Amino acid sequence: MPFSALGLSTDILKSVTAQGYAKPYPIQALAIPAILEGKDIFGIAETGSGKTASFVLPILQILQKSKGSKNRSVKVLVLVPTRELAMQVADVFKTFSLALPNKPKTLAVYGGVSINPQMMQLQNTDILVATPGRLLDLISSKAVQLSSVEILVMDEADKMLNLGFREEMNQLFALLPPQRQSLLFSATLKDEIVNIKEGLLKNPITIEIQKETQNIELITQVAYRVSDERKGVMLRYLIKNRKMKQVLIFVSSTHRADHVVVKLLKNGIHAAAMHSKKSQGARTDALRNFKEGRLRVLVATDLASRGIDIQFLPYVINYEMPRSPTDYIHRIGRTGRAESAGEAISLISPEDEHQFKIIQKKMRKQVNTIETDTLDLMGY
Ligand code: AMP
Repeated sequence: MPFSALGLSTDILKSVTAQGYAKPYPIQALAIPAILEGKDIFGIAETGSGKTASFVLPILQILQKSKGSKNRSVKVLVLVPTRELAMQVADVFKTFSLALPNKPKTLAVYGGVSINPQMMQLQNTDILVATPGRLLDLISSKAVQLSSVEILVMDEADKMLNLGFREEMNQLFALLPPQRQSLLFSATLKDEIVNIKEGLLKNPITIEIQKETQNIELITQVAYRVSDERKGVMLRYLIKNRKMKQVLIFVSSTHRADHVVVKLLKNGIHAAAMHSKKSQGARTDALRNFKEGRLRVLVATDLASRGIDIQFLPYVINYEMPRSPTDYIHRIGRTGRAESAGEAISLISPEDEHQFKIIQKKMRKQVNTIETDTLDLMGY
């Protein structure tokens, strides 16, 4: 089914073509017509499924018919768990608005940066993409109010719960007008999500997509058996020897991330770390530089494993194994996206063996494992 069969206007279709989207992903084919009809949606889908465009496109079309927002009353509220996702979703709204005659104003607000500029920019905002905590602060400062919200989107609702935003979410729900359209997206279907769905959505259409697991087929996975002491040099060997231009490396702690970066820099490999102990400015810069190809290596904790969309990332390296198989799948899902192939490499020390077995069992996939004892790593 082509995009033109989904009920989208010519203006929106132009932006879709400009983005190089040839045909809709399954979630888009199902969600776009339903959202245009005003239906509530319960989408069980992960990052990589194309869920962002599945709500951005119809929302932009719906807004084309309405007048600009008055003062501090937003029309569309998108709640997201992290600052990075807030910026990313706002960017998708902005990109698809470029060619529209009636351009809505989109703003992302999130914590970790000064609140004053956000307060000033809120004037006449139509689409507000927000993390829950900062949004409540802005509401209590009377910088924004939710009584005119026509469409609510909850993106990665399960992640929001995991991050402990339940209380904030409840407070925000209480401020929304009862007459509205609600779209709820979650990667998992746990009890708490079902509770939210029941409290928030009216006769929703449920759409379940398991894109990330299908995507795994696109990803070449390989593991190297290597002692903990040799992981650093093995990493440099891989980056240099394989001439990797862009690689995302996962580690298990903020301390380790910084340590790996220092070692890489000492060896002439341009790298930066992204984790929760970095300032928001440093995180944003690192991610932007990486996305725009100015940074060769980004070393991240699991903070970056979800929700961050980097197009055509060729390599992901697990320097250390994640705690859960789900995290592993999310990590390697950063590559092999939007139908381009990628490679996920894991460095497995004897301590990681057991965890790696569990991960392979969960994926129902045996990963090709290579011994490195005899590999000469001198000079790397
Ligand atoms: P998302 O799941 O929303 O994070 O989207 C994952 C990636 O797929 C993003 O890089 C999108 O730009 C890309 N994408 C979304 N829809 C399509 C489409 N219909 N055709 C090609 N790429 C798409």
